[in-house]
Amino acid sequence: MCGICKGTNVKHEIVDSGYTFEPCPVCGPQTKEEHDREFAELYKKLDEAEALYKKEKTA
Ligand SMILES: [Zn+2]
Repeated sequence: MCGICKGTNVKHEIVDSGYTFEPCPVCGPQTKEEHDREFAELYKKLDEAEALYKKEKTA
């Protein structure tokens, strides 16, 4: 597996303003389909984390 993007085709970099996302210089950019799928998964995880957080707060 690629050490830069860890198989995601995206290079994450921390900058002053937060994060930047760039296509992996080794693997190349991911397809739109892959990108959409990954973001769908990411948002699903965020939703789950938020739900868990709310649950813990109200419990
Ligand atoms: Zn890569």
